[in-house]
Amino acid sequence: MKPTPASDPAMSDSIFDRIIRREIPADIVYEDEHLIAFKDISPQAPVHVLFVPKQGYATLNDVPEDDALVVGRLAMAAAKYAKAQGFAENGYRVLMNVNRDGGQTVFHIHLHLLAGRALYAHFG
Ligand code: 5GP
Repeated sequence: MKPTPASDPAMSDSIFDRIIRREIPADIVYEDEHLIAFKDISPQAPVHVLFVPKQGYATLNDVPEDDALVVGRLAMAAAKYAKAQGFAENGYRVLMNVNRDGGQTVFHIHLHLLAGRALYAHFG
C-alpha cells in the first residue's frame, strides 16, 4: 500500500491527516518535516502523546521494509520528547495498536507515548 500524503486532502482523510493540515485543532507538542506529535484527546495517563508520520500508512502491517524509517522516526521522536520533558529516566511506554484485536481505531499509523504513572501494573 502506498503512503498517503497528508498534505493532499484528495489522497488521505484520516482524522490525523486533518490535524496535520490544521483543519481540526490539536494540542501539538512537536512537529518536523516527517512527523507531528500531539496530546491524545482521551488521555490514558498524565502524559499521553501521539506520534504520527505525515506519510501515513493505515496500519503497521502496511509499512514496507524499505520504509522502516517511518516507524523508527516515531520511536526516536518519542524518546527525545521523554528526555526533554524529564521523565525518560523514570520511564514510559510506547505502543502501536494494530487492527481490531489490537484496539486500533484510527487507521493512520501512530505511536502512543504514555507516562506519568506506573504503567507496569496496567497491561490492558
Ligand atoms: P488507536 O486506538 O487507533 O491506537 O489510537 C487512536 C487515538 O487517537 C485514541 O487514543 C484517541 O483518543 C485519539 N484520538 C481520536 N481522535 C482524536 C482527535 O480528534 N484528536 C486527538 N488529539 N486525539 C484523537
